[in-house]
Amino acid sequence: MAVVQPVVGVVGAGVVDARTPVITADDLGFSRGDGCFDSLRVLIGDDGVARTEGLEAHLARLATSADALGIESPPTYAWSELIEAMLASLHTPGEGTLKLILTRGREWLPQAGPTALVVLTYRGRPNDEAVARARRGVRVTALSSGRPSDAFLDAPWLLGGVKTLSYAINVAAQREARARGADDVLFISTDGYALDGPTSGFLAVLDEALLTTPTEGTGILASTTVQRILAAARADGMPAREELIPVSELSRARGAWLVSSSRGPAPITELDGRQLALDPALTQRIARYAGFA
Ligand code: PLP
Repeated sequence: MAVVQPVVGVVGAGVVDARTPVITADDLGFSRGDGCFDSLRVLIGDDGVARTEGLEAHLARLATSADALGIESPPTYAWSELIEAMLASLHTPGEGTLKLILTRGREWLPQAGPTALVVLTYRGRPNDEAVARARRGVRVTALSSGRPSDAFLDAPWLLGGVKTLSYAINVAAQREARARGADDVLFISTDGYALDGPTSGFLAVLDEALLTTPTEGTGILASTTVQRILAAARADGMPAREELIPVSELSRARGAWLVSSSRGPAPITELDGRQLALDPALTQRIARYAGFA
């Protein structure tokens, strides 16, 4: 894969050289994780034109995260204009990731307002080995989230559903999975329900219905890809709903998937070393619902 420099943009300043320092030592996003982000897939076609996937949904979720944190986000058009300028500099056919980052701003200079950045990275062609492997399936380890499935009800200070910059726990869980010889994680509530992954939503087909974890109460992030899949499934006549799924039920599921906008639905091949059912036709159908086929 050709190495392509990331493209960096700052709302208010436009596209900058990737080596330009854009965060100061007192930025509260850096020093406290006090901020939020969102990320989405970019497709660069064989015509060399880059386009985003689901930008509106990701900007809406970023605005919801910013609201929950009490951070004033730049207006949608400011993000969109910057992103458009950044996409114009990427021409190598393949996939990329856009990361939108918003922090509370500078501790020593609060009047400077929030920091709003965008980073565009190129990931190569979709048939690159690593991407293809992820789409074939993932071995998953179940890890406790340390909380019951209703921990976030009436507790907005816990920031349920907010995509904060504080991802250290998510990253630690993925490290733990690798140490156990697995590829990824399924978080489990202390009362035994499947929640989501550190960077993915969760889907299972049980009794012919497509199920996903409810966001309310569980505090999990609303995955834009899960929402897109559920809407397409319903339009296609497939029963699809939010419902808590006991992890003990997964052994009789027709299939289970970790889902995100960067890699689409990745079928779970094993959970803690036990094989789960795989249905390639169903995975293909769900990938199509997600816009990945
Ligand atoms: N859940 C968490 C915790 C995530 O970090 C992500 C994506 O990064 C997702 C779910 C998937 O969200 P989306 O489908 O919008 O990419």
